[in-house]
Amino acid sequence: MAYKDVEDRKAYHRNWYAQNKSQRVKQIIAYQEREREKFLEYKAAQECKICGYRRCIRALEFHHLESETKEATINKMLHHKASFRKLQKEIDKCCVLCANVIENCTKV
Ligand SMILES: [Zn+2]
Repeated sequence: MAYKDVEDRKAYHRNWYAQNKSQRVKQIIAYQEREREKFLEYKAAQECKICGYRRCIRALEFHHLESETKEATINKMLHHKASFRKLQKEIDKCCVLCANVIENCTKV
């Protein structure tokens, strides 16, 4: 249904949301879970660029190559339920390193 009046349209959407809230929330949660699965599948196919480590994906991190272009950490974006498309855009600015390599780099 098309409304020419902006306030009528807003009222229609508010009313629709109130009547369909639980279904809509389930759809959003399902979408966020699918996006997270895509990310985990992508990460599972990665390996450390220095030593080739790939046994445990929890030990792999996305390390930004240039801090000037960094918008957010991948972990922070995951926490905020970013879509895989947005994550991929940020991942393109990173290289994958294992925890051992990162630990050795930060000790210096
Ligand atoms: Zn490594």
